[in-house]
Amino acid sequence: MKQRVVKLTDFGGSENMVIFEADIPEPKVDQIIVKNNAIGLNYLDTYFRTGLYPWPNEDDLKIPGSEGVGNVYAVGSNVKDFREGDRVSYVTPVGAYAEYAVVNALHAVKINVDVKDHDVVASTLKGLTTHYLLHLTIKLNNNMTALVHAAAGGVGQLMGQWGSEIGATMIGTAGGPDKVDAAKKAGYHHVIDYKSEDFVKEVMKITNNKKCDVVYDSVAKDVFPGSMDCLKPRGLWVLFGQASGPITDFNLASLSAKGSLFVTRPTLFTYIANREEYNDASHQLYSRIADGRLNIAIHKTMPLEEVVAAHNELEGRQTKGAIVFTL
Ligand code: NDP
Repeated sequence: MKQRVVKLTDFGGSENMVIFEADIPEPKVDQIIVKNNAIGLNYLDTYFRTGLYPWPNEDDLKIPGSEGVGNVYAVGSNVKDFREGDRVSYVTPVGAYAEYAVVNALHAVKINVDVKDHDVVASTLKGLTTHYLLHLTIKLNNNMTALVHAAAGGVGQLMGQWGSEIGATMIGTAGGPDKVDAAKKAGYHHVIDYKSEDFVKEVMKITNNKKCDVVYDSVAKDVFPGSMDCLKPRGLWVLFGQASGPITDFNLASLSAKGSLFVTRPTLFTYIANREEYNDASHQLYSRIADGRLNIAIHKTMPLEEVVAAHNELEGRQTKGAIVFTL
């Protein structure tokens, strides 16, 4: 049987993604095949598309995409946790932009709470990321002040709401007035328009020169010296993305010069390396959506055929919240 997928013809621009007819694959022993109902767009997808991140398998057919929701269609011989028909969400480095996605069973979970498909794919990869950033990379608490860049983005809007629930003072940066409004609605106590204001000066004013305990930096190249300047001595710089480009020239000695700073470059997949961690993080996320503690911001829903336009919007800084693909 055949299915529609998005095929990456070569690493590079968004125009290298085309709709393609492919066979529905068989699962390997530890995999499941999920018939997608909806698919989420993540900035991560652009890094694999351009070749910034190495493609994680040797398959000739390169299908991008990192999260989806749907029903289990086929189960590998070693998989005990799922049966055909189960409603599941999943995250994966690549492979989600398809009617039928091949998924490592470790990174799927049954959804037992009342959360709509579109909210699931607008929040799973971004929300699991938010969970580890706030609870595991550092245990954020109500005595701490955190700075989050791209606060109106998909991850950014979850960070604001969840960080405020913890009781931390949440400061966000966002590009332009509309995004500043969106970030304020997403729980940030202070939002700086970093297109028109010097965010380091503003952080100094907001904190009475005390600065922040932690900076969550997913923008990298364009902001990183400033990110470090916003940290208290012995503060933690969490560099978890590079929307403006990677940092290629970094002098480790600047960590001592700027106050014995710590730095980490985490990735979600290290924080969901076993079933217990994955289940716990998913439960923390979906229960918050179901009981209304987290509001999921969907920027737009688009048919998967519009994948090129969707990538262009995301990389063009035009989105507030998540883009969801329908099939
Ligand atoms: P977003 O919705 O946050 O989109 C990216 C945002 O980055 C833009 O909207 C824009 O917001 C900001 N940005 C700043 N400079 C640029 C630039 N030059 N080009 C494009 N965007 C820019 O995306 P996601 O929510 O999907 O992901 C947020 C970040 O988190 C990404 O960097 C992603 O890689 C990272 N991530 C990391 C994970 C990990 O485990 N390490 C897991 C998941 C996500 P503005 O206009 O307000 O500046």
